[in-house]
Amino acid sequence: MATSGANTSNNLMVGANSFFVIIVFILDINLPPVRAKTYPSSGIIKLCLLITICMLDSLYLVIGQIIIYFLLITVVTTVSIAIFVIYSFRTGTFPFPNVVLSGILALEGSVKALFRLFKVDDSIVDDVVIRLRNKVSLKRFESLPFEKKAIFLPQCLRSVDCPAKLSSEGIQCINCGRCNIGGAKEKLEQLGYMVFVVPGSSFIKRMILKYKPEAILGVGCISEVKDGLDLCHRFGIPAVGIQLDTDGCISTALDWGVFYNTAHHTAKADKNASESSHS
Ligand code: SF4
Repeated sequence: MATSGANTSNNLMVGANSFFVIIVFILDINLPPVRAKTYPSSGIIKLCLLITICMLDSLYLVIGQIIIYFLLITVVTTVSIAIFVIYSFRTGTFPFPNVVLSGILALEGSVKALFRLFKVDDSIVDDVVIRLRNKVSLKRFESLPFEKKAIFLPQCLRSVDCPAKLSSEGIQCINCGRCNIGGAKEKLEQLGYMVFVVPGSSFIKRMILKYKPEAILGVGCISEVKDGLDLCHRFGIPAVGIQLDTDGCISTALDWGVFYNTAHHTAKADKNASESSHS
């Protein structure tokens, strides 16, 4: 494949070369006598052009080879990452998470295009990105005290009969008991968390700027979680995302066990647990 690419590149060079030689030939033949006397010599022009052609010849060859090698490396890396994504998705193992995450994010468009080409669901890529980001951020998230962390819950988890009002601080839950948000919000706020029920995507950015949490736990559908984690990454905030069990705009479902495990598990919780076991 590399040889055929190099041949193509050489053919292009030869074509360009021939084009310039023809121009020189035409110039040489058609220069009128008066102009030929005016200029130093048509021979000098021809020589200059031939030198330029030689330089361009080498330059085109180098550029052509660079482009071909770049394309080859991109294709091989894209295929490798796609294979890795499928392997991680199926086995749940994520070796070298930082390196792989950088690779996926750099070639995300190409990897998704490759998935679509082979009629594979490209949301797998988002799922693996979320799990990799969680793996990278979890330690830092857990090391911070509850008071410095924020939790964002999606409004679609509410009951369809939710009586809560919307304010500039999000949906104001009154713990009416119609859904799990009320109880969760109360328990987590007692621990020290800032808890928000998110009415829309721009809300999270506004709360980050206002309250400056040092770590974030977010819940949402796959695209919301991925966008939220990307946003936190841009702000340099370690964030962990938990996907909803069922997507949709109303009455969605969450594995509250997984959620509480993540929310409760901090260095402080470990410390308290070890202190109470010693007393
Ligand atoms: S518990 Fe809160 S969020 Fe859930 S329905 Fe009641 S007021 Fe709405």
